Amino acid sequence: MSWRDVHCGEVTRDRIGDRVTVAGWADTRRDHGGLVFVDLRDHTGKLQLVVNPDRSPDPAAVAHDIRNEFVLQATGEVVARAPDAVNPNLRTGEVEVQVEELRILSRSSPLPFQLDEENVDETLRLRYRWLDLRRERMQQNLRLSHTAVAAIRRTMDELGFVDVWTPSMTRGTPEGARDFLVPVRLQPGKFFALAQSPQLFKQLCMIGGVDRYYQIATCWRDEDLRADRQFEFRQLDLEMAFVEREDVLAVMEAAVVAAFEAAGRPAPARPFPHISYDEAMAKYGSDKPDLRFGMEIQDATAVTRDSEFGVFKNAPCVRYIVVPRTFSRTEHARLEALAKEWGAKGVANLSQIAKFLSERELESFGVPEGSTALFVADAAPVVAHVLGLLRLHLARELELIDTGLDAFHWVLEFPLFKQDDESGGWTFMHHAFTAPVLGQETWDEADPAHVNGQHYDLIWNGWELGSGSIRIHDADVQQRVFRTMGMSEEESRSKFGFLLDALAMGAPPHGGFAMGIERFVALLAGEPDIRQIVAFPKVSSGFDPLTGAPTAMPADVLADSGIAALPQPER
Ligand code: ASP
Repeated sequence: MSWRDVHCGEVTRDRIGDRVTVAGWADTRRDHGGLVFVDLRDHTGKLQLVVNPDRSPDPAAVAHDIRNEFVLQATGEVVARAPDAVNPNLRTGEVEVQVEELRILSRSSPLPFQLDEENVDETLRLRYRWLDLRRERMQQNLRLSHTAVAAIRRTMDELGFVDVWTPSMTRGTPEGARDFLVPVRLQPGKFFALAQSPQLFKQLCMIGGVDRYYQIATCWRDEDLRADRQFEFRQLDLEMAFVEREDVLAVMEAAVVAAFEAAGRPAPARPFPHISYDEAMAKYGSDKPDLRFGMEIQDATAVTRDSEFGVFKNAPCVRYIVVPRTFSRTEHARLEALAKEWGAKGVANLSQIAKFLSERELESFGVPEGSTALFVADAAPVVAHVLGLLRLHLARELELIDTGLDAFHWVLEFPLFKQDDESGGWTFMHHAFTAPVLGQETWDEADPAHVNGQHYDLIWNGWELGSGSIRIHDADVQQRVFRTMGMSEEESRSKFGFLLDALAMGAPPHGGFAMGIERFVALLAGEPDIRQIVAFPKVSSGFDPLTGAPTAMPADVLADSGIAALPQPER
């Protein structure tokens, strides 16, 4: 016996006259003066069942028992619906099944929420995720995710990449987040870290002669959860030997385009445009600019250098954006309050400062009637940060973003190092294994600000999809980076001795990339957060409402691994 011979959504008008057996969930049941209608649902859609007590008394008795989300099996003839009962919104809307046999395969206790209910608390949805997954939205998202990953895998295979499995349990991998630790019963008191990415293993694959590595790799990072962040997520992780930057970019573009095509979406044009880090910061105040709209940041430092307006005259950097609108005093005050939250001392508009500027200076801003120029004066990074956020905020509020556009681009030519806000020391911009640009392999280790890295980021509509770089393949250069970051010889040997040894034994030039799968699919699906893409996500407090994890562990289990838990305040 088979449970079904056709899926619900496939019973369309060309099946009229057929006898079919279908199985699925009772989406709704309606009693109509004797006739009982049941919408039966599976992953392909809904199908209307009609039970007529005059014709089939046994099924009619069963039908009265049915409640939402009971699992049913029904057999009957596919018939055309009466013309006034046709539902043009359903693929199966022209037909119904006259039920001859009906079985309840499984019952459901009363539901904590109805599947089509709006505004259900997310924790409740996730607590009963199996119900939530039955919704069309989640069904589509999981399938879209599969479609995208399958297309990416096909592309990687066609391009000669080899899927190599790398360890999840390893030494801490420095991707800039905290590690999740795994105690080891066989070596009490010692811990593995869950890989933040397969970064060093994929580099070792290159040194090991694999040539082209890829993996849909799970990564673990102990960071605060956000709309686009879970503790664990997947990356399309790849690495290539004997390549230059453009080779890596071309592979990533092919993978993205293949995923678009497989999803039936018009693919972005290749090659994706390039923008340098410096230009992105200057024009958009962000290293992941949204290029679906203009409102570019413009510089006024030189023009206002000699102005009478003290704030401008003395500021290291004065820049502005031109917003196609005028603002009331209250609106301006609200924008200024926001800008102050973001770190600005204030925001000036042209009318407030006009009296300090000459005719020539005023004209040079080129602000059309009905528009407003908003100025921020401060150190360049503060100005970029504030105007970047203001630009985005206003574009969203004034609906200036063409949401029908897909703007993909590469941000490249990043500095290799940045100054750490807290310690004031130097740290990496991408990670410690990124190569400096050719010709910049030596630098003043106390002041490496001018060294550029061969690092590139892929941006889609203002979201960073992923990062990559050409890597260091020379142990001396690698040591120089570690030293610049303030690591002693002993420290770098103790943490990365295996890498330094490998780099010293015939490392080919190599480079790679990693793209967040869930972030990519969420954008592809038009979903606001990646929890809508992940089958079983955690909520933002880092808790899994479904299983109740994480949980405390009995002292004897901890003791086995050489751990004693400190008492924690009740939460
Ligand atoms: N390992 C890096 C990351 O996870 C990506 C890369 O450089 O390939 O962001």
